[in-house]
Amino acid sequence: MHELGVVFHVMDTVKAAAQREQAKHINKVCLEIGEVSTVIPSLLQDCWKWAVAKDDMMTECELVIHGRKAMTHCNKCHKDYPTTVFEKICPYCGSDDTYLLTGDEFIIGDIEVV
Ligand SMILES: [Zn+2]
Repeated sequence: MHELGVVFHVMDTVKAAAQREQAKHINKVCLEIGEVSTVIPSLLQDCWKWAVAKDDMMTECELVIHGRKAMTHCNKCHKDYPTTVFEKICPYCGSDDTYLLTGDEFIIGDIEVV
């Protein structure tokens, strides 16, 4: 995922929501991003600052990013383990028959409007 494209997608989504509420300005947007999603939070913040400065409805809008822990499930021994430590190989039985449970999500959470 490219950060600037992500930023424009988030801005379009929150502006559509704010317009439904007849809000004049968006002050704050919260995002939940999984540990193994392809979005890099620091780059996202840089793109965000640049993009909201050009948008009357979102000038100085704050972006709050919450990380979500990545967990993988093993199909062989049916245990869950933290993805960022062991990646695709199960630490309990050594199997690579595993799949990602959580951690690649990208969710738009609360927004604060005026
Ligand atoms: Zn296992």
